[in-house]
Amino acid sequence: MALSGEEARAPKLRVFFIPFFATSHIIPMTDIACQFAKRPSVEPTMVITAANAALIRPTLDHSASSGHTVQLLLYPFPSAAHLPSGIENLGSVSSDESWKIYKAVDLSRDAHDRIIREHTPDAIISDIPFWWTTAIAKDLGIPRITFHAAGVFPQCVMNNLVKNRVHDHVPTDSHQFTIPDLPGPSIEMVKSELPEFLKQRNHLTRAWDDLKKSQLESYGVVVNTFYELEHEYCDYYREVDCQRAWFVGPVALYDEQGKAGRGGGESEAARENRERCMRWLGGKEAGSVIFVCFGSWCCFEDEQLREMALGLEASGMEFLWVVRSGDHGEHVKTEWMPEGWEERVKGKGLVVRGWAPQAAILDHEAVGVFMTHCGWNSLLEGLGSGKPMLTWPLAFDHFISERLMVEVLKVGVRVWDGFRSTSEKEKVVVPAEAIENAVRKFMEGGEREKMRKRAAEWAEIAGAAVAEGGSSYKDLNSLIDELFVLQHERKNGKHIE
Ligand code: UDP
Repeated sequence: MALSGEEARAPKLRVFFIPFFATSHIIPMTDIACQFAKRPSVEPTMVITAANAALIRPTLDHSASSGHTVQLLLYPFPSAAHLPSGIENLGSVSSDESWKIYKAVDLSRDAHDRIIREHTPDAIISDIPFWWTTAIAKDLGIPRITFHAAGVFPQCVMNNLVKNRVHDHVPTDSHQFTIPDLPGPSIEMVKSELPEFLKQRNHLTRAWDDLKKSQLESYGVVVNTFYELEHEYCDYYREVDCQRAWFVGPVALYDEQGKAGRGGGESEAARENRERCMRWLGGKEAGSVIFVCFGSWCCFEDEQLREMALGLEASGMEFLWVVRSGDHGEHVKTEWMPEGWEERVKGKGLVVRGWAPQAAILDHEAVGVFMTHCGWNSLLEGLGSGKPMLTWPLAFDHFISERLMVEVLKVGVRVWDGFRSTSEKEKVVVPAEAIENAVRKFMEGGEREKMRKRAAEWAEIAGAAVAEGGSSYKDLNSLIDELFVLQHERKNGKHIE
């Protein structure tokens, strides 16, 4: 690395990482912070609330045990958000209460302002919702890098729809239209599958202009993706949506040994789940298991869970299925289970309630296919492990990202081709037969092998991107190098623009 000789003698580069209150943002940001810690003279700090810090302790401890320390700087979760003590994460609230998490975002502004001014780090890497950090950083003459948990492709699609609003002029919610001004193949969407904020005014519609302005005015953007995966979109994004961009993923591949501990915290339940999943997979044949997981905050109604249970059973596949409890996490519901089902699937299916070590599970050779909601982290983790996907998008940008996997990269197939919507009240219950058929068709048809091959090729490319000399490795290190240069210039009186 160009600066490493001088770097050892240089003053510490203190970088603050400030993630949004969602596990799917906290995990990749922590992964990046741990990579920063590997560089001599870099001192990364996660600026985070207490309950969210507990989720990343295993990752931080693992990193520290290799000599790469990431500091923690805690700030109080805003009590005016009116959530019970210890509830600080999108994944810990029901969908009815998610607005309280977004309210907490707005209420965190003063704490961020105070902490950043008090400590004056050399750089801030803060999550997209915390738009005020660009202005605070400018005021102090330090760079703010915007962090995006979503991929470049879904970001470009959403940006173009905000600008062009073609979806406002379609005759029905199921009418197909083309995403305007996008590089690459033509991408068709339907209005019902767009993120809620594009269909009706919500907290994000109101915040959008502030978020965009602060992203464009920030020093640059860091994204958990790799250039090879979305290169046309990455080039376009660099041109239109930011001053600079660094593509540094898939971050799940940075630390193979630390995968099992990501995001689950140190609770007894998380530890037990980790051991149970890996032990169960250990007894299964290569490629025989379907891994079913829908991210860190999405939930299903009981009726849908019941159909899913019956569909998985009827598919004849072995399955490892993560079911989220859908409440504050103290109570795990079982009302959805069909009578006698748990007994019938014993040995063939493992249901995990709460948190499972997804990245480690996906790496396991027993897993043959990943049924996913198409959250960005999940897609990158699936690809990074070379697993083809059965896609079941649920909310926000999932339906957009699904198109990258299914239509552009061709590494997955849709579970359900009927009416689909991001809106809770419009959701159609996907019947058991449709789930059974989708799984059977995928397992028995010739497509599976082709998709498996393509996914395996992507896993190689992803691995090469984060390995020494790869595109993500270079981007990550050039970001750190640039922050060193800015620190040096600032010490010599130059103000960051
Ligand atoms: N995850 C996990 N275990 C679970 C559920 C989720 O490890 O039981 C992790 C998963 O590996 C990924 C993240 O949580 O890193 C989910 O992020 P994604 O962007 O896929 O979806 P979201 O949570 O935003 O819906």
